[in-house]
Amino acid sequence: RSNAQKYEFQAEVSRLMDIIINSLYSNKDIFLRELISNASDALDKIRFLALTDKEVLGEGDNTKLDIQIKLDKQNKILSIRDRGIGMTKEDLIKNLGTIAKSGTSAFVEKMQTNGDLNLIGQFGVGFYSVYLVADYVEVISKHNDDKQHVWESKADGAFAISEDTWNEPLGRGTEIRLHLRDEAGEYLEESKLKELVKKYSEFINFPIYLWASKEVDVEVPADEDESSDEEEKSESSSEEEEESEKGEDEDTEEKPKTKKVKETTYEWELLNDVKAIWLRNPKEVTDEEYTKFYHSLAKDFGDDKPLAWSHFTAEGDVEFKAVLFVPPKAPHDLYESYYNTIKSNLKLYVRRVFISDEFDELLPKYLNFLKGLVDSDTLPLNVSREMLQQHSSLKTIKKKLIRKALDMIRRIADEDPDEAKDKDKKDVENSGDDEKKGQYAKFWNEFGKSIKLGIIEDAANRNRLAKLLRFESTKSDGKLTSLDQYISRMKSGQKDIFYITGPNKEQLEKSPFLERLKKKGYEVIFFTDPVDEYLMQYLMDYEDKKFQNVSKEGLKLGKDSKDKELKESFKDLTKWWKDVLASENVDDVKISNRLDNTPCVVVTSKYGWSANMERIMQSQTL
Ligand code: ADP
Ligand code: MG
Repeated sequence: RSNAQKYEFQAEVSRLMDIIINSLYSNKDIFLRELISNASDALDKIRFLALTDKEVLGEGDNTKLDIQIKLDKQNKILSIRDRGIGMTKEDLIKNLGTIAKSGTSAFVEKMQTNGDLNLIGQFGVGFYSVYLVADYVEVISKHNDDKQHVWESKADGAFAISEDTWNEPLGRGTEIRLHLRDEAGEYLEESKLKELVKKYSEFINFPIYLWASKEVDVEVPADEDESSDEEEKSESSSEEEEESEKGEDEDTEEKPKTKKVKETTYEWELLNDVKAIWLRNPKEVTDEEYTKFYHSLAKDFGDDKPLAWSHFTAEGDVEFKAVLFVPPKAPHDLYESYYNTIKSNLKLYVRRVFISDEFDELLPKYLNFLKGLVDSDTLPLNVSREMLQQHSSLKTIKKKLIRKALDMIRRIADEDPDEAKDKDKKDVENSGDDEKKGQYAKFWNEFGKSIKLGIIEDAANRNRLAKLLRFESTKSDGKLTSLDQYISRMKSGQKDIFYITGPNKEQLEKSPFLERLKKKGYEVIFFTDPVDEYLMQYLMDYEDKKFQNVSKEGLKLGKDSKDKELKESFKDLTKWWKDVLASENVDDVKISNRLDNTPCVVVTSKYGWSANMERIMQSQTL
């Protein structure tokens, strides 16, 4: 094309495309839901802009916010069209090829080690999945601020952009034309497309139409050939008989002049049910529907079900409906740069209109692993995102969401037969639902760190979060245990909860600090995650019991009658020792009852860093 400008794909994008093209991945279906999801995002954007400026929608067909799928069997073209926000020339260049998204290299890396292509949407590069099925793709797009342009690429390292002077004007929005590869012929079957939309895109909030063929009975005039035959016959008959023949004709007038034949017509067939799932009564939504909804909401199309969900309506001053999910797996970048990225995974709707999925005011940071949505009736519709972000209702919404989220997480534990409960509740264990078995350990593996960060950050919910803590201890037998279980096993007279920190359990088990405690039958918690050191600076007590680091000063194991006597008789030795070490090296030298075989240990002062903390700080400054 004469006016085409050529561009090269950014290197990482090019590598990604190579991987996709050469992929032996058998589930090529995923491209369709990625395109539909992009169309839906684009529609969300224009609908949001229309809240404050009706003009942007234009008029006539442009106001129809829908998605249309069309097949051209002859030319093997599948096209998906939306009336969303569209892309300017600049957008096409940036979004489809020259600027790599942050997830691009992460995804490339994943794919080189047997990653699952199915998760492409989570990395923000879903568009390129079109090259699973097409060898040539055109993106025709019209944005309100620009003329209509065509982006096209055969995935050969380059793409071209031209001002569109030959296609039909789109009005507004985007049409993606896939020139299907020979082996992708199945995507020209209507039944296949219907099946895919049902499977992956059922919960898209805009109507999805397919230009579908339909066999219909139509009345056509009775066959002319037959009547001409008759005419011939009548012609061949003698002239005299003409009169009587005419009479006969009149007699057979009931014979239909028309007949029915099958004809193929085309019409737009609606493929999805656009009633939002969160508006439905939770009792009427099946587990399978929630799972599918989670998949489309989170762009997480792995095989696993979400670990839990909570669907509720909040009433009172601030009314809203919400659905929250605990994903089956943590996303690849959950704890990467935790402190300097603001990312919420909740979508905010106001009266069914999508507003934003970048509202960091809805959930605290430590809960940003949750997925879900909030639809509020109380928030104003016609204000900017910035204004909304300041709205006082958000505080109330946030508070309720946290409460519901923590309840939901606790339920995973409550329903898990593997979570040792009170001994008298043994029956519950036996009747335990197999599906729920081991779910809390799974949760803890994926998101335990978030709970710990929560204890550090959220003083108001500290106790609720502490209930969700799991760890191993000298008595947990290689399994996870909880603070409540620890307390239920405490020895009579034991006042404090004992713990020790270190790089791993194996090393801690050999620690001289444990000798005496073990011998006396006290349970000691192992904290082996670097974050645990910080955690214990915030978690001072639980259920009126103080936490005691057994490698620190202040360990009390009950009074021993000989304590005073021993202290007296070793007075000279301790004094001598302290003098030798000089006071810069140690604060004090004391007789202790915390040891058994080891003659002496260095103990940290109550408010000083533990040896483990020193280790962590050193590794951080390296
Ligand atoms: P993601 O959807 O996660 O951003 P994609 O690779 O699917 O990643 O899409 C890349 C970008 O291309 C989108 O963010 C969007 O800006 C743009 N885009 C893709 N499809 C459309 C569309 N139908 N309408 C408008 N913009 C689109
Ligand atoms: Mg996308």
